[in-house]
Amino acid sequence: MDGNEERIIKGLFALAGVTVNGDKPYDITIHDRRFYRRVLKEQALGLGESYMDGWWDCPALDQFFHRILAAKLQERVKGNWKIKLDILKSRLFNLQSRKRAYQVGERHYDIGNDLYRRMLDKRMIYTCAYWKKARTLVTFKKLYYHFYGRRIAVKTRQHSIRRAEFDNWLLQRSGVTVHIHQAKEIRESGGRYIIDNRFSSSYLVGAAGTYCPVYRTIFQRARPRIKKLLVTTMEAEFQYDYRDDRCYLWFFDNRLSGYSWYVPKGDGRLNIGIGGKLLSLKGGRGSIRDHWRSFREKLNHLGLVRDFDFPVRGCNYFLHHGKGPLRIGNAFVVGDSAALASRDMGEGIGAAVKSGILAAEAIARQAPYAPGQVGSYSIFNII
Ligand SMILES: Cc1cc2nc3c(=O)[nH]c(=O)nc-3n(C[C@H](O)[C@H](O)[C@H](O)COP(=O)(O)OP(=O)(O)OC[C@H]3O[C@@H](n4cnc5c(N)ncnc54)[C@H](O)[C@@H]3O)c2cc1C
Repeated sequence: MDGNEERIIKGLFALAGVTVNGDKPYDITIHDRRFYRRVLKEQALGLGESYMDGWWDCPALDQFFHRILAAKLQERVKGNWKIKLDILKSRLFNLQSRKRAYQVGERHYDIGNDLYRRMLDKRMIYTCAYWKKARTLVTFKKLYYHFYGRRIAVKTRQHSIRRAEFDNWLLQRSGVTVHIHQAKEIRESGGRYIIDNRFSSSYLVGAAGTYCPVYRTIFQRARPRIKKLLVTTMEAEFQYDYRDDRCYLWFFDNRLSGYSWYVPKGDGRLNIGIGGKLLSLKGGRGSIRDHWRSFREKLNHLGLVRDFDFPVRGCNYFLHHGKGPLRIGNAFVVGDSAALASRDMGEGIGAAVKSGILAAEAIARQAPYAPGQVGSYSIFNII
């Protein structure tokens, strides 16, 4: 165990006013020194999971998390070269691999305003015609996090919208002609890509999510997916006369390696769901269906959703990893096809948009394609 890691984590917690092994109710006591490396490596997720594993404790968890979240540590790290250098040094010495050290840079890269500038307009406000008419857009000024039964309200500026509406808006804005076709077979011939003997092109962008045929045909071998980063989810979105218009997130309920959510959308729609790492669910923490059942009971008990009788959708996708190429020849993978969703919150919409833009720039301007720049953690972008 490297003392440097301990020093870095203690230094970061000190920025939030938390002392390791201190005597305030929000101070934490470390029971297993592997804690420092895990938190440095996995950030928010490592913090939560190491708690579940009994590596640390805290008398007032809610106060602790409130301080950590309110301190916006990621922003402070970004603006502090000394801490950044320390983290980089620690990782370099520990991992002894230039390749992995590169991931450090990737992780702390913030998608930032650039993405929104491209998606929105120069002044970064929603002035485009389609957006003005958005029916299901809702803006939250606060998010309500729950850790182990304690609620923490955190100031934010987050939006919810129906995916169909958002995707349609992006398509309209791009101005492309859409051909509806489910791609099955891809082959290369004469320097071109042939799709189902029906379409041919000199460039190919795989954007079809987890089961993308471009990934399967061209990238699978060079960029194998990492099983432990596979997330499984259950979700329902339905018309509901909801009484509570706040956005709630519950972390690690019933030892789930993930979280559940209650997200009101506009036009009287409600989205609820749950997601966790599949492998850890197989490790005796209950199946995703078990967790879904308890979650529904909880929503009923809290009076948030009663008499649940709505269709439920299951979906799997892989979280961010940096192993293997994202461009081979003139073929690219973006979004979930490239496994770019953030490791802590499983958010991949921003990453899908950003990587799509980068792929377009690589094709149009011969720019380098480096979607690894899309950050692999997102909790600190939310708050
Ligand atoms: C339940 C759930 C909730 C989530 N919540 C959030 C969230 O709140 N915020 C966030 O940032 N991320 C969230 N994510 C993650 C996010 O949805 C994905 O990371 C993101 O949608 C990835 O975008 P994508 O365009 O790569 O893939 P997708 O959104 O999966 O889009 C792929 C598209 O390709 C099409 N397609 C598939 N196969 C083919 C084929 N063979 N030929 C042609 N087309 C095909 C599909 O129909 C689909 O339209 C959530 C994921 C799940 C499962």
